[in-house]
Amino acid sequence: MSEEKSSLSCCSVAGSVSLQGERLSWNEYFMSVAHLISRRATCTRGHIGAVIVRENNILSTGYNGAPSALPHCSDNGGTCRIYKSIHPDGTIEENCVNTIHAEINAIAQAAKHGVSIRDSGIYITSSPCIHCLKVLINVGIKTIYYANPYKIEHIAELVKLSGIQLVQVTVDSIGRS
Ligand SMILES: [Zn+2]
Ligand SMILES: [Zn+2]
Repeated sequence: MSEEKSSLSCCSVAGSVSLQGERLSWNEYFMSVAHLISRRATCTRGHIGAVIVRENNILSTGYNGAPSALPHCSDNGGTCRIYKSIHPDGTIEENCVNTIHAEINAIAQAAKHGVSIRDSGIYITSSPCIHCLKVLINVGIKTIYYANPYKIEHIAELVKLSGIQLVQVTVDSIGRS
């Protein structure tokens, strides 16, 4: 809340919120949360946030980083440790061995606390990699909402075969990662 609004009445303060833009849709709301969560990410290769949602309620969140209590890529003296893999189409993919992807961390958080995520949706600031997509299918996620496409051609076939929905949601004011 900005300082200059603090002396106004409650209604005026509420009005000041609307000056910042129209009321967010549910998709904009959850994707905005995903972008905010991505700012906790610690892998220097990219900052990704994920939010698992069912019936407009947040069930779990995650960002990409090292496992709990292990050194993060962004720690002092830390660094990403990259491995390369070759996709069947011949393209080379690079990943960081230190890091758990945001989607998997969101699933892990749900598992840790005993939260069922079956038949839910997930908002991710980037489209999932093929490995995360396979897990998202098996935990019963029905719809993946993503902001930025990441090698989306690698997951197209599996998306089609699995029947999982893939929907792009961009948030103009925040839509970057
Ligand atoms: Zn890293
Ligand atoms: Zn992944």
